[in-house]
Amino acid sequence: MRFDTVLMVDWSGGNDRGAKPVKDAIWVCLATGGVAETPVYLRNRQVAEDWIIQTLSKLQAEGHRVLVGFDLCFAYPTGLATQLIGSEDTLALWDITHLPRKGTDRKDHGLPEKRAADIAIPGSFSPWQLAGAGAVGGQVIMGLPMLARLRQRFAGSLKVWPFEAPDAQIVLAETYFSTLPDLVTADAHPIRDASQVAVYARAFSNMAPDVLADLMDVRPTAEGWVLGAGQADALRAALAPAPPPLRNDCFAMPQGAHWTPVDAALAHLKSHLSCVTGVQDCAIGDAAGRLLAQDAVAWRAHPPAPNSAVDGYGFAGPAAEGLNRYSLVAGRSAAGAPFGGAVRKGHAIRILTGANLPKGVDTVVLQEDVQADAGAISFYGPLKKGANARDAGEDMQAGQVILTAERKITPADVGMLAAAGIGRVTVRNKLRVGVLSTGDELRDPGDTASDGDIYDANRPMLAVLFDQSGYDIIDLGRAPDDRAVLRDMLDHGAERCDVIITSGGASAGDEDHMSALLENTGSLALWRIAMKPGRPLAMGLWEGTPVFGLPGNPVAAMVCALIFANPALRVMAGGGWSAPQRYMLPAGFTKSKKNGRREYLRARITDGKVEAFPSEGSGRISGLSWATGLVELGDPAQTIHEGDLVPFLPFRNFDA
Ligand code: AMP
Ligand code: MG
Repeated sequence: MRFDTVLMVDWSGGNDRGAKPVKDAIWVCLATGGVAETPVYLRNRQVAEDWIIQTLSKLQAEGHRVLVGFDLCFAYPTGLATQLIGSEDTLALWDITHLPRKGTDRKDHGLPEKRAADIAIPGSFSPWQLAGAGAVGGQVIMGLPMLARLRQRFAGSLKVWPFEAPDAQIVLAETYFSTLPDLVTADAHPIRDASQVAVYARAFSNMAPDVLADLMDVRPTAEGWVLGAGQADALRAALAPAPPPLRNDCFAMPQGAHWTPVDAALAHLKSHLSCVTGVQDCAIGDAAGRLLAQDAVAWRAHPPAPNSAVDGYGFAGPAAEGLNRYSLVAGRSAAGAPFGGAVRKGHAIRILTGANLPKGVDTVVLQEDVQADAGAISFYGPLKKGANARDAGEDMQAGQVILTAERKITPADVGMLAAAGIGRVTVRNKLRVGVLSTGDELRDPGDTASDGDIYDANRPMLAVLFDQSGYDIIDLGRAPDDRAVLRDMLDHGAERCDVIITSGGASAGDEDHMSALLENTGSLALWRIAMKPGRPLAMGLWEGTPVFGLPGNPVAAMVCALIFANPALRVMAGGGWSAPQRYMLPAGFTKSKKNGRREYLRARITDGKVEAFPSEGSGRISGLSWATGLVELGDPAQTIHEGDLVPFLPFRNFDA
């Protein structure tokens, strides 16, 4: 059941004559592929019918397949059609439903109070009820003739589900917009009816064709059915489709006799990993550092109306060269308190920064440049038309995509979202990252330790590193060099985490239990990467959860975490692939390196030059703390002289 376009219509009997959109008129929303356009406001039934006909004609001409959902009962409870026209032909009933606006007492007519579909939707109203809060009957009586006209207008290419098979270019279906109240509340539009059409348009347009076919697979009774009735879960799932699991062989790289270049390893991760997180909505105040799950669309223009960029006097520009004199209009325009009247030619008005430009004003002269007396101002021109004025929408247009999915939201983004009227956004759930250390020699910092013991530096270091990236950290503890215990700890981790980061035991030695266990799952890939520092990385899936087995050595663990785990986690979290920013800076050191491997030096910037940590010993964890980033030396052999430009990768930019 494939529709490339979905149109949701929130029908209403209201007739709005005011200037501003109100909640009880008609809202419609178009969506394709799970992305909804800005809901459109149609102030009364006539305007709405014209808009729907025009839109469907255009979509029809362009060859689209359109599912049109109306929250309007398509039928009455069983029996009415027979009583009125002598047969249960609901669509024939549409043609005669010119019923009066006011209903009669609906008792004792011998027909059911509700249709089966109404009963399947808790809290829905009887189509007989014509008036009162929440009543739908009046809309049905006035809506069915409109539906009948649409049927006639698009005869031949329109079918009405479920009375007719939904196999036409345009399919009308009855919908009901109150089954996802939390998601509707979470949507950003200030008017609920607009949010409703947007949420349902997104859901139906994002739904897998076979799921929609299932929802449409109902027996065509005279009462019809409400598309999605009793199936809120399917709608919910269409809005937040469960990410597909990673494949068991996602880490398997063709193994040659040679070491794998860093770029090949990164390319493999980039092409084999995908987002594993679901979505949630969140207030923009809580959204900084989170990954946006859907494009954010400006609800209104910024600025919403032309306004003044300075404190001064507004008039109709341009002002000529030489001395200009304008009579002052009484009153002023201030931010939040606009001037309601018009300013005639040759006149000016006092205006403050951010105030809307009154009618007749397009130019503002700075108050510092003006000589003001009782009834007039003078200043020296020229001043161009539009000077010191901001156009409506010059910053952002209503309906414009202002942030795209996968964006990590910054404090400035929060300000922009707020300015565009967006109060809540859909973000990815936080990636749950388990951190585990392995090794009999490890002790927790603060505990007593003998000479043969080593304090566990990796677990707290990696936990903080990924915490700073905005992930949920789950401390999985320390595993001894004991396969059975480690197995239990991995089981425990796989239940709670989206990804597990381990360190130590990743090589192929006697005590390298991590690689041995992953080997047993059949998913182990020991990556021998041509880089320094680094030993093999042990990658695999434990009960479907990806495991990154980093080297035990803390310097190697940190560098591998930054270079490999970091972009991989970003993809799994829903942030897309990102490469760390590099700055070319003059070297403050000399070095020769051999061919065929990449080298990362702990480095920092001193006096505009990149200084390298004096020892390259990979046990020297103090050098990690001394450094503020890494120098990356490419794979070929090279000699670096002082002053040569080298790429410097600041630590803080790795997951910006
Ligand atoms: P492995 O990869 O288990 O052979 O460990 C390599 C080296 O890193 C050994 O010297 C370990 O003692 C050390 N090491 C392993 N895990 C940690 C850790 N969590 N903290 C500090 N050093 C570690
Ligand atoms: Mg070990």
